[in-house]
Amino acid sequence: MRASTFNVQVPLPDRREVFLMNTFSDAQLIVSKDVASLLDRLADDNPRGLAFDNEEQDALAQLTEHGFIVEDRETERRSLNRFFTDLREDTSLLRVTVLTTLQCNFACDYCFQGDHGDYNKFAQKMSLETAEQVAHWIATRLDTLEPERFSLTFFGGEPLLNLPVMYALAERTWELCRQRNVEMLTNIITNGLLLTPEIVDRLAPYGLNGVKITLDGDRDTHDRMRPLRGGQGTFDRIIDNIRRVADRCQVSIGGNFDASSVDSYPALLDFLAEQEFARSLVKVSFKPIVQTTPAPSQSLIPLTPVSDSGKPLNGTCMTSAGAGGSPCDTCHFVDEKMSFLREETKLRGFPTGDGVHMGPCEIHRRHAYTLGPDGSLHACPGFTGEPSLATGHIGAGGGAAHENAAARFDALAAWKSCGDCSFVPVCAGGCSVASHSELGDMNAPACHKQSLESALVSLAHEAASGA
Ligand code: SF4
Ligand code: SF4
Repeated sequence: MRASTFNVQVPLPDRREVFLMNTFSDAQLIVSKDVASLLDRLADDNPRGLAFDNEEQDALAQLTEHGFIVEDRETERRSLNRFFTDLREDTSLLRVTVLTTLQCNFACDYCFQGDHGDYNKFAQKMSLETAEQVAHWIATRLDTLEPERFSLTFFGGEPLLNLPVMYALAERTWELCRQRNVEMLTNIITNGLLLTPEIVDRLAPYGLNGVKITLDGDRDTHDRMRPLRGGQGTFDRIIDNIRRVADRCQVSIGGNFDASSVDSYPALLDFLAEQEFARSLVKVSFKPIVQTTPAPSQSLIPLTPVSDSGKPLNGTCMTSAGAGGSPCDTCHFVDEKMSFLREETKLRGFPTGDGVHMGPCEIHRRHAYTLGPDGSLHACPGFTGEPSLATGHIGAGGGAAHENAAARFDALAAWKSCGDCSFVPVCAGGCSVASHSELGDMNAPACHKQSLESALVSLAHEAASGA
């Protein structure tokens, strides 16, 4: 027997105790220092000459039951491999993200999907005919996988610029799920400018689960970061729209910060806390902006354009992983600011991620699909900007290029280069988009261990205060 590789500890000096967590079993315990030190004595396989009294043996039995003690390193490694294989092949959930259009009504400088010459005014928009093909493709997936749940997310560009496709897909797939007794949830990720109660009411019968809206700082900062194409601000109208829909659906707030905007977020949080809808927000979380190169000196995340056309990869990720602290950023400054904003959010009583349970993100799931407006298939939302990495198409077979790309994503396992890092089960090597863009190798870890460690300390103190 030996201590698990995935044990993490945080001393709680005030209580003379230690917070223990195992990131693989997700067990969390607060124990005496003596119990924690038992784990130190079991750091190696087959420790020799160890004797335990009755009390210690009871503690060891409990620690083993919760996954803090394992048989040996090799057995645990095999379990980890099995975990990632099971996750990849899991068919209980079919997750489909549809980019209804790449067009947008905003002119955010940082947007990876914007073509800053024309703000993607002429970018692809899904036709109703393609939407019908998408519905057919989803029907086939439902029949092949027989999932328990189906999750449909509308994304863009700005998805609300293509309402006919949203309505058609929601209605068609709802019917498909109803016929097959599959639970369906529909989500929208929008800039919020065009959101109305009518849209929410129209989608409510089709499993509308939540709407995620982006606010990039307090009013002045948001209006600077996310103006309309004509330069007008958008903050007040978005807040009005949230006010009008907050009692009709679950609203969460996201935000993208850089060095010039991060300090305005506490004022945004204060403003939100004063609103009538504050208590109905289901999640508030912020992530760093992924910058294109050449990166200005205050930019946080330099990403290199890598596509043939010279366009950068998309930097948008709406998963908990991409929206959190571990992936998609590259420096300690970001790690520190993520922690700072998480604490500020919690201080005002808003629900937010704990910063430890960040992944594995959807790129590790075979049956999480991202569909472009033309019906192309992508491994995750972050790779939609690079056609050469499309993994297929809903219509045709796709050919060798698609097969090669699909094989690359099949083999993705950056965590295998992470050695004995205790965070592998909740990090999986970080964001592959960041690895691909910044390191030129999607299979290299994009490491933000500092962010995970600081989130762990916060989690430990929360557990201690509730214990
Ligand atoms: S690889 Fe990065 S962008 Fe893609 S789902 Fe994972 S965290 Fe998000
Ligand atoms: S990327 Fe870093 S924190 Fe994540 S599993 Fe690898 S070594 Fe650990």
